[in-house]
Order: sequence, then C-alpha cells, then structure tokens
Amino acid sequence: MVFEGLSTRLQETFRKLRGKGKLTEEDVNLAMREVRLALLEADVNYKVVKDFVARVKERAVGQEVLKSLTPGQQVVKIVYEELTQLMGGDQTKLNLAAKPPTVVMMVGLQGTGKTTTCAKLARSLLAQGRRPLLVAADIYRPAAIKQLQVLGEKCNCPVFSMGQENPVNIARAALEYARSNGRDIVILDTAGRLHINEELMNELKDLKSSLNPHEILLVVDAMTGQDAVNVASSFNEQLGLTGVVLTKLDGDTRGGAALSVKAVAGCPIKFAGVGEKLEDLEPFYPNRMASRILGMGDVQSLVEKAQASIDEKKARELGKKIRQQEFTLEDFLDQIQQVRSMGPLEDLLAMIPGFGNLKQLKGFKTADIDEKEISRIEAIIKSMTPEERLNPTMLNSSRKKRIAKGSGTRVQDVNRLLKHFEESQKLMRQFSDKGGKKKGKGLRL
Ligand code: GDP
Repeated sequence: MVFEGLSTRLQETFRKLRGKGKLTEEDVNLAMREVRLALLEADVNYKVVKDFVARVKERAVGQEVLKSLTPGQQVVKIVYEELTQLMGGDQTKLNLAAKPPTVVMMVGLQGTGKTTTCAKLARSLLAQGRRPLLVAADIYRPAAIKQLQVLGEKCNCPVFSMGQENPVNIARAALEYARSNGRDIVILDTAGRLHINEELMNELKDLKSSLNPHEILLVVDAMTGQDAVNVASSFNEQLGLTGVVLTKLDGDTRGGAALSVKAVAGCPIKFAGVGEKLEDLEPFYPNRMASRILGMGDVQSLVEKAQASIDEKKARELGKKIRQQEFTLEDFLDQIQQVRSMGPLEDLLAMIPGFGNLKQLKGFKTADIDEKEISRIEAIIKSMTPEERLNPTMLNSSRKKRIAKGSGTRVQDVNRLLKHFEESQKLMRQFSDKGGKKKGKGLRL
C-alpha cells in the first residue's frame, strides 16, 4: 500500500506518545524529530516537511494540549488535522459548467496514465448519470487513438476522433458534436511528451485559449515522487491547472508526491488512480488519506465501497455502529469476511481502523497479507463465544487458552489481536466524538 513505510513509522512514534500519561515539551520535540525523519524518508519535499513540523510543534506544545488528560492523543489529532490541510483540506470537486458542455482538458507526460484516466473519469461520470464524450486529441503517440476507442467501448462512452488532424480543429469539432448530440462533458485526451518542452506547452496553450476549458487536469505518476511535483509546478506556471490526478497510488510508492503537490505546486489533487482497471479512480479526500496514514483507517471509503459492491444494509449498519462506538470483534470479523469479496485485500484492510497496528502481529508482515493470514484472525474470533466477541474483557487466561486451541494459534496471538483491537477502538473513540472542541472531525460519517 502507498504510505506503508510512513504509516508504520508515524504509528510507532505516536504509540510511544500515547503510552505516556503526561507529556513534556521534550517528549513532543523528540516525537517531532521522528515525524520529520519519517516524512523525509517518504520523499516529502524538504521545505514542506520543515513547515509542517513547525506548525505541528507550535500547536502541540501549547498548554492546552500538554495539560489535557490525553496529551498523546491530542498530538495525533493535531497531526491528523495538519496532514489533511497539507493535502488540500476539503475535497475539491470537478468544476461543472453552468451551461453544458463542460470541457475537461486532460494533460500530462507520456506513460503517466493520461489516456486510462480519461476513460476512468468517463466511466465514473456515466455512473453518476452524466453523458460524457471522450475526444482523441493525442495525435502523436502511436496507438493512442485506438487505445481510447477500445477503452471507450469498454465503458460505453462514445469517442470522438479525426485521425491526425490538428488538435485545435479536433477539439472544436468535438465541442460542436457534443452540443448537437447532448453530451454534457467533453473529456479531451491531449498529447503528452516524454519531457516538458516548448512544443508541447505551445500546443496545450493553443488548446486552452481556443476552448476555454472549465478544468485543466494534470495527470502525474505518484511513483515518480518529487519529479511528479516538479512537473506539476511547471505545468501550473505555464498553463494554469485546476487540479491534479495522481495515478498509481496503488503501487509501492512512498507517497511524497501526494503530500507535497498541493504545498509546492499550489494545485489540489482532485482524483487518485488506484489501479489499472477502469473502476480504479477515486475522488481524492485529504482527510481520508490522512486518516489512513495514521492507521485510523478510512471508514467512510470502506462504507462506500461496501455500499457499491456488497450488502448495503450491512454497510449502513456498520457506519452507524462505528459512529456510536459499538464496533465489536463480531463486526470486525464480519467486515473481514465482507471485504474478502471486494477487491485487493491489502488496500481494503488498510481502511479498517487500527489495521496498521494489526499488521504488526506475528505473521502479518506488511506486504504479504494473504488469505491464510486473514483466516487466522478469522479463526481466533470464530473460536470465541458470541458473548466473548461482544465483551472481550471477559477473556481470562483459561478462555484464551481455549480460543488459541480452538483456532490453532497461540495465546500470544490471541492477546495481540485483542490488544490491537482495543487500541483501534480507543483511536476510533477519540476521533469519532471525543476529539475536543471539533467534534467528529476525525471520522466524518
Ligand atoms: P498515457 O501515456 O499517459 O496516456 O498513459 P496510459 O493511459 O497509456 O497508461 C500507462 C500505463 O499505466 C498503462 O499500463 C496503464 O494501465 C497504467 N496505469 C494508469 N493508471 C494507473 C493506476 O492508477 N495504477 C496502476 N497500477 N497503473 C496505472
């Protein structure tokens, strides 16, 4: 998962902080040094890290925090809020024209995922009841037109093309076509290059001035880290972007690009590409991403995914339970069983609060979470009686022994599972309604 390393390090740092009843300024300083290193290692821009740590530190050493009953958790809350701000604060939606068609110009260097993203966006708009039109204006890359046509067919979206014609002419004709055929969003797949050059910029500027697009979205590849951020800065200076689409966030990237783009290039991330399939495009929610990084899970996304692909009633109940803090081991097991049918296991598990901690269980080593290991958690919970699942505090040593035996695990495994479950419950309580003045800021449902 993206942010794996960062996530693990930050959670380790904050576990130490939360373990202390009282915090001194020195404790906070020490933790901030670790945060600083973790961010730098995740390839976050140096200046961004410096400003970020300074902001968190200033808020965290305030008397209000240090004298509170739960200073460690207050610090985590501050980091959560600042991470959310760093990535752009509120989610930024697609800017739709008052009078359709809306024109979306998709720009970017070759290989970043531009053509795929055009089709992903079309698919998601179709699902929302819109009538997009894909336009093949990438006339340089061999096979780009064909690729868009194939993808258009896959997602049932018409594709407008005129071969190797001048892009401005293609775009104008496509707009006309959209107007007379009731297509309300025109998505332009423009030409990329291997590197930024004058020819590319001039072509894009021409397109911009003749179309007056409502959105100019730059597609960048998260795997390229700070290069992606530099490309975004340069495009924004020369072309004026309305947003960024960060692709390949499903890969093994350290995540520095996601955390630096807004602060360095000044434009918000609007969407994230999380896989090669057409359904793998997500609106980018800074608060949800911050929540995932801090191991608080991403309950909202999980509930939405569940609503889209499985039992809607159960998903709603789950959201309600989490809101009311009645999330039990039973629900935890239920969730694990449901997510099995929902896609790549590791991505989904990362959305469950506390899973970052769970992964440190023996046998839950980061990247290789497979069905077998999930079965172990399942086996442990299933070996408990319904009463025990609702009230794990009743588990004394003889009950634990029985459970370990029943599940083919060891008592230590049972203990670890319980400890981590308890921790994630604590975290959820903190962020779902006891987070101080800003109620419910953590997990908005
Ligand atoms: P373009 O040259 O920018 O138009 O790039 P393409 O759309 O042809 O994509 C290049 C490669 O990246 C293709 O193999 C895509 O399947 C892949 N790709 C695009 N977006 C994503 C993503 O979000 N995740 C992953 N894993 N691969 C992606």
